[in-house]
Amino acid sequence: MKLKLFNTLTRKKEEFIPINKDEVSMYSCGPTVYNYMHIGNLRTFFFEDILLRVLKYDGFNVKYVMNITDIGHLVSDSDEGEDKMEQSAKESGKKVSEIAGYYTDVFKRDVDLLNVIPPLYYPKPTEYIDEQIAMIKCLEEKGFTYVTSDGVYYDTSKFPDYGKMARLDIKGLQEGARIEYSEEKKNITDFALWKFSPKNEKRLSEWNSPWGIGFPGWHIECSAMSKALLGNHIDIHCGGIDHIPVHHTNEIAQSEACNGEKFVNYWLHGEFLDMGNEKMSKSLGNFITMQTLIDKGYSPMDYRYFLLMAHYRKKLKFTFEALDAAASGYKNLSQRILKLKTEIDSGNTFDKSLIETYRERFSAKINDDLNMPEAMSVIWELLKEEKITSADKLELIYEFDKVTGLRLNEIKEEIPSEIPEEIQKLAVKRIDAKKKKDFKLADEIRSLIKEKGYEIADTKDGFTLKKI
Ligand code: AMP
Ligand code: ZN
Repeated sequence: MKLKLFNTLTRKKEEFIPINKDEVSMYSCGPTVYNYMHIGNLRTFFFEDILLRVLKYDGFNVKYVMNITDIGHLVSDSDEGEDKMEQSAKESGKKVSEIAGYYTDVFKRDVDLLNVIPPLYYPKPTEYIDEQIAMIKCLEEKGFTYVTSDGVYYDTSKFPDYGKMARLDIKGLQEGARIEYSEEKKNITDFALWKFSPKNEKRLSEWNSPWGIGFPGWHIECSAMSKALLGNHIDIHCGGIDHIPVHHTNEIAQSEACNGEKFVNYWLHGEFLDMGNEKMSKSLGNFITMQTLIDKGYSPMDYRYFLLMAHYRKKLKFTFEALDAAASGYKNLSQRILKLKTEIDSGNTFDKSLIETYRERFSAKINDDLNMPEAMSVIWELLKEEKITSADKLELIYEFDKVTGLRLNEIKEEIPSEIPEEIQKLAVKRIDAKKKKDFKLADEIRSLIKEKGYEIADTKDGFTLKKI
């Protein structure tokens, strides 16, 4: 079956043809580890996971890289303002490496909970300073750079195709914002490749370079690390849609100007998760993390099921009502799986070609630009199919779950649901109170647990907790 993907470069669904049929190269722009990831960020990592899983399901061997930004991502896209990592470190009185280490661990835990397959490499820009400097030098030698009082800049007017993927109206941008950008920048779209440390101030992290002490700009890390790990010309590059006009546009300008060849064949971008009518974002303060969902009694698979219900190129609005609907969808699916397991010995599928038909239908949906909502409908139809035995259904569903990633082969009698740590602690406190015969306190804690949506029951060995 042919895989078709919507390529942002052409704004068309195109057949995916790898550069090298033995190994597909794929790069995703990962997190900036200065804070927690919210469930909007996780939507983008989930979409990239689905893409990876579909490629694998189709038999491709994928070399997958996702960067973890631990320096250089400024609070604003206009090369001004603080470095997010430095700001977070200063605010908490910690080292940049400590901040990066902590939030990288939380990020890895969250994506693991969501059953996102990790990449082969998670490169960090602080470990690729030489490669970034080499690329800036390459751009300098080819005449694409100029130096200002605060850094080394890329002269976007020198790259004829600048802004092509984003279809930027550069003239319009330039006229519209004449006063808003730094005097020293030659064009509004020019961007920093290397920023100098502020005069008379030592940054928490800074490096020597041929141009002066400072740190790399955010965009150069992806061009340099992608080149180092995957080569000059790669198959697929992904990220959230916000990356189209600036970050990915700049990556193309850097890589193609330096390497003298095409950078990426297929650019894929995931739409945003919104909160109300605004995108979920850390700066707007309207965000929810995976831990918040777990604390409220949802399982990460409830959220994965919720995400599967929307196509990656459509905006998705987050509400708890919609998440509840997804949670009950996942619960239903889990119960169906458990039922199939109990019926496993019943007869043979008479018409084996019917199994192939379902396989083809599922495959057609996932290969049609990752149409997961419709692929899920095929699974539900298969569950209702009377002419296929339970054993064959189960086998096929487990096969499909290599793409959906709902951990269906791990479902046990109890649907996996995490009891929040806070509730577990309260339960232990209640047992202690009972041991001390403080029944008043024990009752109070029981009521508190109930208020928080859980029921505690005593057993001979201790207690059980369940969501009400
Ligand atoms: P950041 O750490 O801010 O660079 O974001 C990590 C990834 O999450 C990027 O690919 C962003 O495009 C993506 N992202 C940010 N906000 C949202 C959102 N509300 N919904 C979906 N993806 C998002
Ligand atoms: Zn990037």
